[in-house]
Amino acid sequence: SRHSDPAPRQPAAPDTTAVRREFERIHGRAPHGVWAAPGRVNLIGEHTDYNDGFALPMALPQRTVLAARRRADGLLRLHSAQGDGRTTQLRVAELAPGAVPGWARYPAGVVWALRERGLPVGGADLYLDSTVPTGAGLSSSAALECAVAVAYDELYGLGLERPELARVAQYAENAFAGVPCGVMDQMASVCSAEGHALHLDSRSLEVRQVPFDLTGHGLRLLVLDTRVQHDLADGAYAALRAGCERAAKLLGLGALRDLTEPELPAALAALPAELVPLVRHVVTENARVEQAVARLAAGEPEALGPVLTAGHASLRDDYRVSCPETDLAVDTAVAAGALGARMTGGGFGGSVIALVPAAAAPAVAAAVAEAFAAAGFAAPAVLEAVPSAGAGRLDRAGPGPVGGTRPG
Ligand code: ADP
Ligand code: MG
Repeated sequence: SRHSDPAPRQPAAPDTTAVRREFERIHGRAPHGVWAAPGRVNLIGEHTDYNDGFALPMALPQRTVLAARRRADGLLRLHSAQGDGRTTQLRVAELAPGAVPGWARYPAGVVWALRERGLPVGGADLYLDSTVPTGAGLSSSAALECAVAVAYDELYGLGLERPELARVAQYAENAFAGVPCGVMDQMASVCSAEGHALHLDSRSLEVRQVPFDLTGHGLRLLVLDTRVQHDLADGAYAALRAGCERAAKLLGLGALRDLTEPELPAALAALPAELVPLVRHVVTENARVEQAVARLAAGEPEALGPVLTAGHASLRDDYRVSCPETDLAVDTAVAAGALGARMTGGGFGGSVIALVPAAAAPAVAAAVAEAFAAAGFAAPAVLEAVPSAGAGRLDRAGPGPVGGTRPG
């Protein structure tokens, strides 16, 4: 091939032993354990989670690794390899929304959210290191929250089920960090299984593991990180969410999830014009999730391609959350031989996924890089999405019980 491999194999996660050693250097003692939680890409089902709908995310090999040790004095001490080089010290009893600035609000928010549920959790020393790019639409925030949630679950012997951990992490992001996200990112981070995509029902939090064998079908899933995040993202997300809720109310529905494709024309005719494209996106997007699941279940992952590209058109034309960079990446990838492509995540930048025949991967990545250069955009970063395991403990054979009674 005249192009080099666009996403050469690299260590997917920080090294557990190195994280342990760094914890000891910073906190002066050994951790009680080491946990990790992955970032994600969403295959299809965008802006559906806060409408109680469906999504099909998968965990990335890239993850946030967290070493943790319980403290009895009510202090929470936080240090990140991607932080400001300092240790943030907080008092657990004084945690309150708005009181913690910067990145520490995500992990502190999880501790606060657990206490809001009446759970008996106290302080800890934490050190984390991550390979999930931040702000790239790959959910480094959920990876961080979910790593803390699974660590606290064991450190304090809580025994929470996975969907409860995801809800705690989502509540931390919504109510403590101030980001009105749905639950998909956190569910993907805690519930995913290696080699599978996760069929998520955002209302019941029921999940189904859908086999997703890329290599066996000669496919690769490229992640093209556009490295842009346009400023309107925050306000626009909240406005879109409010628009969906208003539409559901006008239609007399609990959520837009309750509207099916056959009912769509009559519903659209009854809505004010500005809500029509929003509702059309959500309803057709839920249908695309079901199509995608059916194609994977039939053992035809290559047939996902057109579903991805149709999903992108809906995000671009109806939901209007794409941007010149994501549109260019999608169009160029498809023209260069991708079976399908779409932006993944909330939008206004972030990353695009492209499903490609393995042999075409270098050409697709090169074509996107060339198109970005020609448009004057910064070069996109390329990762490979390999369906990977969800959050868990990394050092099972570690130093013995944590949380008192539960096996370590
Ligand atoms: P995304 O979740 O798509 O990566 P967000 O804006 O939701 O983007 O979350 C990114 C923010 O999460 C960062 O700006 C930072 O505050 C926090 N964050 C994520 N990972 C880390 C990390 N390893 N160390 C410190 N902060 C992190
Ligand atoms: Mg995020």
